[in-house]
Amino acid sequence: MKIDSPEEYLESLRRLERDVYVLGEPCECTVDHPLLRPSANAVAETYDMGREPEAEGLLTCRSHLTGKTISRFTHIHRGTDDLVDKVLMQRLLGRRTATCFQRCVGMDGFNALYSVTFECDEAHGTDYHSRLQDYLAWVQEENLVVEGAMTDVKGDRSLRPGEQVDPDMFLRVVDRTSDGIVVRGAKAHQTGALNSHEILVMPTTAMREGEEQFAVSFAVPADAEGITFVLGRQPSDTRKLEGSPLDVGNPNYGSQEALVIFEDVFIPSERVFMCGETDQSGKVVERFASFHRQSYGGCKVGVGDVIIGAAQLAAEYQGAAKASHVRDKITEMIHLNETLFACGIACSSRGAATPSGGYMVDTLLANVCKLNVTRFPFEIARLLQDIAGGLVVTMPSERDFANTEIAPYLDKYLRGRAEVPTLDRIRILKFIESITVGCGAAAYLTESIHGAGSPQAQRIMISRLADLPEKVRLAKRIAGIED
Ligand code: SF4
Ligand code: FE
Repeated sequence: MKIDSPEEYLESLRRLERDVYVLGEPCECTVDHPLLRPSANAVAETYDMGREPEAEGLLTCRSHLTGKTISRFTHIHRGTDDLVDKVLMQRLLGRRTATCFQRCVGMDGFNALYSVTFECDEAHGTDYHSRLQDYLAWVQEENLVVEGAMTDVKGDRSLRPGEQVDPDMFLRVVDRTSDGIVVRGAKAHQTGALNSHEILVMPTTAMREGEEQFAVSFAVPADAEGITFVLGRQPSDTRKLEGSPLDVGNPNYGSQEALVIFEDVFIPSERVFMCGETDQSGKVVERFASFHRQSYGGCKVGVGDVIIGAAQLAAEYQGAAKASHVRDKITEMIHLNETLFACGIACSSRGAATPSGGYMVDTLLANVCKLNVTRFPFEIARLLQDIAGGLVVTMPSERDFANTEIAPYLDKYLRGRAEVPTLDRIRILKFIESITVGCGAAAYLTESIHGAGSPQAQRIMISRLADLPEKVRLAKRIAGIED
């Protein structure tokens, strides 16, 4: 693996020459920008094998393409064990970072494309699958971060892609040459876009006949000509610019989203994995979404572990840990968190092989997993705020604690239990502030609702996959009702 440490990964980002805008200004080096460094640190953790005894076995595996040891983030799942290990890896990294470590979207993208390109070649006589395999072997060898880009900006939601006043509302092919295609459009809310070496684009919805120009999938270097990134803001993000890490709550790690604009970008044929095969586009969306809905049963659970620890610590620091209602609330948080984990493991264990040899999760259970994720983290966050108390949003700043005039008063009056340093109490409350209403809430809460599709998308899938007529038949048989 070419990039084989967090340091080398950060260095590799410095070498990218991209058009990036941060707060209205061009940004030459995202890694060294204080607003962005925590998000790069979170991705860098995916390159660190050494923290926990089980880490290396989860973070690396064997490539079925080359036989070499590779990062699991570049792997095609070859069995249900792989699917389970993926969830375990995500929980582990959620525990390390307490945020979104961004690298799963590309992994879920090329796992979806792996099976669909195989089926597309069988149906249409194309050669996308071998192109994807060649691309993957290179990504594995270099150990790159690939951003999965699916969500188009969509314009007027009541209109199909081809009906929009501005046809660029859905990313599309605007020209074809003898050796490739030219694309235009934009992808919104792109997780980890500024921390990725490559972008893997997929269609945003199932396309129909007549919408061939929008049924397109390809990979492109993040610093290709014509691509522009605009950083998305997060609550309280400028606290990272104040030089007061205490006020950031989770100063070392963060998440990152951006708008990615493609202005007539050339894609060579060998990196094109779908171009006009409308009948295949819906499968990519459905399979990618299912993989990413599985993912949340790992990553959000890992963050949940940190949150539950923070709740317990806050209670201990203020002398409330033994109160029965507090113990009850913490038990409830654990129950909710482990239920999400159970869903992530269940949809993985019930996975099955596709004709390509790549494994797919159980789609119904993956959707159940994600629908729970749209609710339970909010209840966990509510209980966390309940236990932590109102001080979470009324604490003075780090600068107040550094001011010798008032610091002794703050130390005296904001103390909980006498033996706990006041600043330790404030530290954990600042983290709780961040994860529930600050920067960290973008990854733990908003992403839990809308990441991998908003709740309604999961409801549609659940009602479609549940085989209701079969359940009716069962009930009739038990009740002795004749057809
Ligand atoms: Fe990975 Fe979770 Fe972030 Fe998605 S939300 S990229 S699954 S850490
Ligand atoms: Fe996500």
